[in-house]
Amino acid sequence: MHKMITFKFSQGFIQDLIQLPENETLEDWLAVNIVEFYNKILILYEHFSEICTDETCPKMTAGYSYEFFWRENKKIQKFSFVFTLPIFHLSLPPEYISALLDWTSNEINDTELFPIDPEVSFPNNFKKRVKLMFKRLFRFFAHVYHHHFETVRKAGVDHHLNNCYKHFLYFILRYKLLTTKELSPLKELNKRILQKDQELENNN
Ligand SMILES: [Zn+2]
Repeated sequence: MHKMITFKFSQGFIQDLIQLPENETLEDWLAVNIVEFYNKILILYEHFSEICTDETCPKMTAGYSYEFFWRENKKIQKFSFVFTLPIFHLSLPPEYISALLDWTSNEINDTELFPIDPEVSFPNNFKKRVKLMFKRLFRFFAHVYHHHFETVRKAGVDHHLNNCYKHFLYFILRYKLLTTKELSPLKELNKRILQKDQELENNN
């Protein structure tokens, strides 16, 4: 799979793209970018909704080694206590991805997390919640690269996917949004992207 993947965006171009603009806070920059990535993934997903079905993909996996479960926090009340219990769903990929996109959209529209008024500051847990959004959106790429890349390539939309992912990866690495372990479902691809850019850099 990885040999056939080509990336048109050069490293220099992406470095400019991800650079925190002057006069902008890191929170603002993360907010702008998560919305942009979400919108791009939403467009990409239109191409996948027909090829990623309950029949083609019985599990939300990335290759043989990784399976993802959708986690929801359920509020449980017992006597006068309310506590949160994580519920893990065994999800089919179409369900998982649609839950992922709905949840991301709800997060983006949560005005406590993304205040509309510039005078209102971001909440204390802003980075933690944004990191979770990146972590979950990454799984969309992990599933697609492992299970649908060939179909995507035949449909001729691979360059959109590749450019979007490369931008996403560099952004994550620059702002340390995911750990190496969280990125491991695509470690071979990531290694290849970074190595190739390094070679190009050295040749220039
Ligand atoms: Zn699938």
